[in-house]
Amino acid sequence: MLIRFWGTRGSLPVSLKAAAIRDKVIGALLAADGRRFADAVEAGAFVDGEIPFSTAQTYGGATSCVEIEAGPDAFIICDMGSGLREFGLDSMRRCAAGHPRVYHFFLSHLHWDHIMGFPFFVPAFVPGAKIVIHAGHADAEQALRRQQEEISFPVPFDYLRAEFEFRTLEPGTTYQIGAVAVSLIEQHHSHSSFGFRFAGPDGKTAVYSTDSEHKIDDMEGETDVVAFFADADLIVCDTMYSLADSVSMKEDWGHSSNIVVIDLCHEAAAKRLALFHHEPTYSDADIARMHSESIRYEELTRSGTPLEVLCAYDGLVVEI
Ligand SMILES: [Zn+2]
Ligand SMILES: [Zn+2]
Repeated sequence: MLIRFWGTRGSLPVSLKAAAIRDKVIGALLAADGRRFADAVEAGAFVDGEIPFSTAQTYGGATSCVEIEAGPDAFIICDMGSGLREFGLDSMRRCAAGHPRVYHFFLSHLHWDHIMGFPFFVPAFVPGAKIVIHAGHADAEQALRRQQEEISFPVPFDYLRAEFEFRTLEPGTTYQIGAVAVSLIEQHHSHSSFGFRFAGPDGKTAVYSTDSEHKIDDMEGETDVVAFFADADLIVCDTMYSLADSVSMKEDWGHSSNIVVIDLCHEAAAKRLALFHHEPTYSDADIARMHSESIRYEELTRSGTPLEVLCAYDGLVVEI
């Protein structure tokens, strides 16, 4: 199973400003310290091997969109944040090479940052594509239609030429999408949100759990989450805030800290965690700092299965 991250930012898309690029170039020049490179390959090896990710690259700024590639029959996509635009174009290239034009979306919830990419999803405009939208929310269709009403967007939903189907899912039931079994859990968030667990035919499992608030003083009440995360090969999890932010000014904002999520993953004996839904005001350096603090915290608190802590970025592909 491959997990492709098309959008990893929370709440609002962001882009790097000129000053941030300038700082990265300065960092790279200082790291090179006058060294000469024979060609782009040699320079690339230096950039990849000797400069920190947060200097050489960027976590990106598109909002939530994650693809679960688990078979050749259909695309499986979690959420429709602004990262969906690029996924749509990439999927069309794969369809031109023979991939079926069948898309199964799983929506965590209907907040704007998780559906804003849909009006720019080109496959929806093309006859012959089949788009199935799965959600725990019965009002998913209303949310997608509403954001394309004339007051907000020039192209109405009814103009789209793909074949659509909306399915409302129930927690406690397992659904089969080809060879992939999908289950869901309701989470604490404004207007509620749902996490999804995908079990592939090879026994590998990935969990997509974003926009979910786990409170540090109520870990006893999280047994259902631990059961949902149990033994997962990868958990993509909302870790929007540092612990200090989440217990001071951002309590009850509907998101979680890296620390609480690591505790839950440890309890669930999960194998890998991808920090996700990054706070839009955090710089690449801020996110990198949170990533290294998370790795350190995981090492200090580990008592059973080691948990590898990754930090999702736009363009990351994880194989499980
Ligand atoms: Zn969100
Ligand atoms: Zn939300």
